[in-house]
Amino acid sequence: MSIAPDTTVVLGHRFATEVPEIALRWQAEAAPDPRLLVLNETLAAELGLNPEWLRGPDGIGLLVGTQLPADAEPVAQGYAGHQFGGYVPRLGDGRALLLGELVDTEGRLRDLHLKGSGRTPFARGGDGLAAVGPMLREYVISEAMHALGIPTTRSLSVVATGRTVQRETVLDGAVLARVASSHLRVGSFQYVSAAGESEVLRRLADHAISRHYPAAADADKPYLALLESVIAVQADLIAQWMLVGFIHGVMNTDNMTISGETIDYGPCAFMDTFDPKTVFSSIDSWGRYAYGNQPTIAAWNLARFAEALLGLIDDDQDRAVERATASLQQFPQLYSAAYAAGMRRKLGLSENVDDAAAQKLCEDLVALLESERVDYTSFFRRLAGGVVEPAFEAWAGRWRELDPDVEAMQRANPVYIPRNHLVEEALTAASAGDMELFDRLLRVVSSPYDERPGFERYADPAPEDFGNCFQTFCGT
Ligand code: AMP
Ligand code: MG
Repeated sequence: MSIAPDTTVVLGHRFATEVPEIALRWQAEAAPDPRLLVLNETLAAELGLNPEWLRGPDGIGLLVGTQLPADAEPVAQGYAGHQFGGYVPRLGDGRALLLGELVDTEGRLRDLHLKGSGRTPFARGGDGLAAVGPMLREYVISEAMHALGIPTTRSLSVVATGRTVQRETVLDGAVLARVASSHLRVGSFQYVSAAGESEVLRRLADHAISRHYPAAADADKPYLALLESVIAVQADLIAQWMLVGFIHGVMNTDNMTISGETIDYGPCAFMDTFDPKTVFSSIDSWGRYAYGNQPTIAAWNLARFAEALLGLIDDDQDRAVERATASLQQFPQLYSAAYAAGMRRKLGLSENVDDAAAQKLCEDLVALLESERVDYTSFFRRLAGGVVEPAFEAWAGRWRELDPDVEAMQRANPVYIPRNHLVEEALTAASAGDMELFDRLLRVVSSPYDERPGFERYADPAPEDFGNCFQTFCGT
């Protein structure tokens, strides 16, 4: 006798219950002809979901939001946000839904969220939909980030809906199922704070503390501790982006999480040639979100978070500002320390190398990488393998004197990142119905440190003619 797999899905609604003011009950639009394009079986198992069941009609119904457990309460989340520096008081999930929370096999609460599931009352002029290409893009890049050890939302599946989407051309529609430790953003706090309801703001902050920073509840000033916790995780996150050459592309305050996970993979990309001014996003004509600006922008966004929390930090406005400012001032040091530690790992430097020597070496390297216009990712692996370009010889001599651990460097520097030309090639084929290149790219970037024979072209920089004109697009 075979035992039927347990297919009971329990979707909690803690967010909707605890902060109903920013949770709008809503339903996903029907998908006329759903077809599963990619499923993350490892993540499914981690969530206690049966992958085989997910591939069947009921499972796919869950993944597009049309067949939910009876007690589920899907909601569109309300939030505000500074977009490219300008405040927009009402954004919210225009084409997304929080289906609810799952308890994973380790007892952690994880949001199950859909993108591309139809218009909601927050849709404004948008159609509420998403196309296959951009949803697969989020899938592969977020999974690559996870494999690189960088905190991020995860991707569970992409399902083609059988509905068309009008963009510049007519495209196939898709729904991405995304998993996160929560979808609370700086913009969630801005939204509630602007409404002036301090009781709701306190409840939202308590919800965030309980989900992400339980220790803050016991602090002398719990809401200041919340602010400081978010400052710390974001400083660490941005340092990790910088270390792998990741450019988010739309660091609006609605795209900055309270958990410290990377969220919303729109016009993001990995930098090939090292250049702090690198911008890929077609709408970022001022370079606000250029690679080299990311730490400054993160600090700016955190100041917006602090503003939203002021009323909770101290009844006395001046004292609240003073406290919050002191906390914000910790960001540059926290960021620099995380970046310096990461650079030490990338360069294989041991604890014995003193900080000043490591920092000087690092600064000189960054200057050289920029002036020599070197491919950022492959530089470190080649260095570990003893391959050094002439312009770097003098620098490398100093580096070798510090007795670097080249074995350790293989575990700190990826061979494979989702390079723009590879992503584009995979998405073009996938959008035309062929998933083979996508599946291969996903496999490669899911084990980024293991060099594999036969995959040389996945480690190489883009051909010359590709790199210079590459742009990514928002409003996908
Ligand atoms: P994003 O740039 O993806 O972070 O989205 C910014 C805002 O625009 C969010 O409020 C989204 O819900 C909304 N949005 C983006 N695309 C669409 C769409 N096609 N339909 C409705 N709302 C959208
Ligand atoms: Mg967003």
